[in-house]
Amino acid sequence: QAKKLGGNRIKFYSDEMNSQALYRIELESYLRKALEKNEFFLCYQPFIDIDSDTVIGAEALIRWNHPKLGLVPPADFIPLAEETGLIIEIGGWVLETACVHTKNWQQVEGYQELNISVNVSAQQFQQPSFVSEVKHALTTSGLSACHLHLELTESAMLKNASYSIEVMKELQGLGVKISVDDFGTGYSSLSYLRDLPINNLKIDRSFIKNLRAESKDLAIVHAIITMGKGLNLNVIAEGIETEEQLSILRQLTCNVAQGYYLSKPKEQTEFEKFMNDSQPSLV
Ligand code: C2E
Ligand code: MG
Ligand code: MG
Ligand code: MG
Repeated sequence: QAKKLGGNRIKFYSDEMNSQALYRIELESYLRKALEKNEFFLCYQPFIDIDSDTVIGAEALIRWNHPKLGLVPPADFIPLAEETGLIIEIGGWVLETACVHTKNWQQVEGYQELNISVNVSAQQFQQPSFVSEVKHALTTSGLSACHLHLELTESAMLKNASYSIEVMKELQGLGVKISVDDFGTGYSSLSYLRDLPINNLKIDRSFIKNLRAESKDLAIVHAIITMGKGLNLNVIAEGIETEEQLSILRQLTCNVAQGYYLSKPKEQTEFEKFMNDSQPSLV
């Protein structure tokens, strides 16, 4: 009896594994065609300067709208794009598109200095042609390098660390800014903050989530902000969802705020509306 049950269970598991494997293969074949079929688009989530309460930039976040699967979240396809190497082409498209949009938005009064932050995968960053792709995106869009920020995770920066440092320096030489994304979630030692050429620290959302007066997260966030400022870095908090979190971050003198409380990621036209509505009053 037990044996029979066990047998069924094995069959059940292997069916499930088959269907997962099939889903993956299907997803991969859809992903291969997604670029040429124009199924990707970008959403933009504003960055707010905490002091002046103004929009100083946005993060580009990719979205995939597939005719059969619907909207596939990045968490479901970015890892697959990385495994298959498709991320290099996809990431190139994100970079070029985001630069073109931003250059256009800089024509809007009050937004001449708008910054754009683009997420870059380790694999894309490690490509020998990465710097020339960045240069190309800047040249074709006409965007100034100083308005482009590239977001990398700690692990992406520390993979082939000495090579990565060279690439980051080369990018900074152009004027491009480098951000550490999801700061605090990696396993790396803090000494890398001394050695890596970086401009911005983005405190991971997981620390902001439970940020309350007298919480452990408050102590951690406070320490990150103090350390970041001591290292002359611009400190950004991601994932702000409440008024209280924002007010704590303001008291801690965090520089830049991002999160649903301020604005969710918005499609191009929605973002343009948001910019017009939050236009700094020009005296
Ligand atoms: P990330 O770069 O850390 O981006 C922040 C994620 O948190 C975004 O999810 C954003 O929508 C979400 N978020 C922002 N504010 C809040 C908030 O207040 N509460 C909550 N709960 N979530 C918030 P999204 O757009 O699903 O992207 C997930 C991840 O996918 C990104 O994390 C990034 O690692 C990756 N990703 C997105 N676009 C790209 C891209 O163009 N290239 C690459 N390589 N990765 C990308
Ligand atoms: Mg990011
Ligand atoms: Mg992040
Ligand atoms: Mg994050």
